[in-house]
Amino acid sequence: MADPKGFLTTERQTPQRRPVDIRIKDWREVYLEFEQDNVQKQAGRCMDCGIPFCHQGCPLGNLIPEWNDLTWRGDWADAIQRLHATNNFPEFTGTLCPAPCEAACVVGINSDPVTIKQVEIEIIDKAWDEGWVTPQPPAAKTGKKVAVIGSGPSGLAAAQQLTRTGHDVVVFERADRLGGLLRYGIPEFKMEKHRLDRRLGQMRAEGTEFRTGVNVGVDVTVQQLKSDYDSVVLAGGSTAARDLPITGREVRGVHQAMEYLPLSNKVQEGDLATSPIDAAGKDVVVIGGGDTGADCVGTAHRQGARSVTQLEIMPTPPSTRPDAQPWPTYPMIYRVSSAHEEGGERLFSVNTQEFLGDENGELRALRLVEVRREDGKFVPVEGSEREIPCQLAFLAMGFVGPEKEGLLDELGVDLDERGNVARDENFMTSVDGVFTAGDMGRGQSLIVWAISEGRSAAAGADRYLTGRDVLPAPIAPTDRPLT
Ligand SMILES: Cc1cc2nc3c(=O)[nH]c(=O)nc-3n(C[C@H](O)[C@H](O)[C@H](O)COP(=O)(O)OP(=O)(O)OC[C@H]3O[C@@H](n4cnc5c(N)ncnc54)[C@H](O)[C@@H]3O)c2cc1C
Repeated sequence: MADPKGFLTTERQTPQRRPVDIRIKDWREVYLEFEQDNVQKQAGRCMDCGIPFCHQGCPLGNLIPEWNDLTWRGDWADAIQRLHATNNFPEFTGTLCPAPCEAACVVGINSDPVTIKQVEIEIIDKAWDEGWVTPQPPAAKTGKKVAVIGSGPSGLAAAQQLTRTGHDVVVFERADRLGGLLRYGIPEFKMEKHRLDRRLGQMRAEGTEFRTGVNVGVDVTVQQLKSDYDSVVLAGGSTAARDLPITGREVRGVHQAMEYLPLSNKVQEGDLATSPIDAAGKDVVVIGGGDTGADCVGTAHRQGARSVTQLEIMPTPPSTRPDAQPWPTYPMIYRVSSAHEEGGERLFSVNTQEFLGDENGELRALRLVEVRREDGKFVPVEGSEREIPCQLAFLAMGFVGPEKEGLLDELGVDLDERGNVARDENFMTSVDGVFTAGDMGRGQSLIVWAISEGRSAAAGADRYLTGRDVLPAPIAPTDRPLT
């Protein structure tokens, strides 16, 4: 095990974020470098528990105590092998995961948990720097062809697993660039895209083929798909955004978050000179208090917004674990993301009543009201209505499921009661040989779940194609986070 007394002698440390006034002027990741010595000390806080609850907390079943121990000993080359054994893309989770593993860490019962996520990113960064991440082409080919629809983390994980095990894999992506929400949802300041491009380079070298700008169900028919491929993995995400059909929704200046964020990411890619939706000099309101909302907040600040206000209908979460969410569950507590640190105001227990336009139909203000919970419903607090100035509003209220028109309708896959693609214990849909992974089957979730599902769906597809049982399947479709 790592240092037997580490958790007693070393305090939890995480890397510092760059000063706000500097980072707000660029789009680079917000964290400063963490000294290697520090990483090793932090890894040494791991107790190598008899029952490592962090395994249970992590949807990938990452072998956390093992790579903590190896990191503490300075055996980075073995550490990346143990990390890659369960996670195809530790650089995505190491930068973006909310780390349910840390919420489940035993040290966290009465102290600060091990900084597992930081150790993870340090291991993979070092591995790339040292040239230890190399293509792993298959030893033998199976002669089977698989189409993966969607290049988000679930599609990429499924494709990498299936390619490495010998199938000819083609990933279809309707966007102009690969990566799904990693490319066009998540801003650069959370994850710089060179991390994604480097991994795509490895996948190409292993033999995965990518076709962008292809909307399957439109540009390629389901009939073609069925005749050209032996199996299909649907990894199209949960892309139907929840709307807010209130008075004034039609005024100019009200946008879905996913209309706004991709444009900004395109500017960072150099594909657009400026974003057609730009917050410079505007009062911006973001409706929705989650991750997507925070990404809009950070983006608006970098674009030079005059003010940014984020609205959340739920009450302010508690600062410590509520009794109803005991260890080792992932608690809903008040969190301050890097974007929140950069300014703006967060309002809780408020609902939006109306978007107000000017005489030209441009958004000028938003009317909100305070709410309280009564019998599970949000009830307006009388007399609390007010207007706030707003020329740009973003809806970041989540996603209601995958789009049905086109691909799913044509395929005729069954949906579950929540409108997501239904699947069996092997991640196979109601259509023979067609599998699904990630947000498309699970509903809006996390990158770590998408990778985990991609691996599991790949295992199901490989079993279907070959009858063998060689790929690891970390989860069952019904597994949910410990919340
Ligand atoms: C703004 C935002 C920020 C987020 N931040 C975080 C975070 O910090 N940490 C975290 O863990 N999670 C985060 N999430 C959630 C996370 O990004 C998703 O859970 C994850 O990306 C889902 O992966 P996926 O592969 O299932 O789908 P996606 O990433 O959505 O990828 C699906 C892909 O399929 C393509 N596609 C769909 N239909 C077709 C078709 N018919 N033909 C061809 N291509 C098609 C789409 O264009 C898309 O590229 C965030 C989500 C959003 C919206």
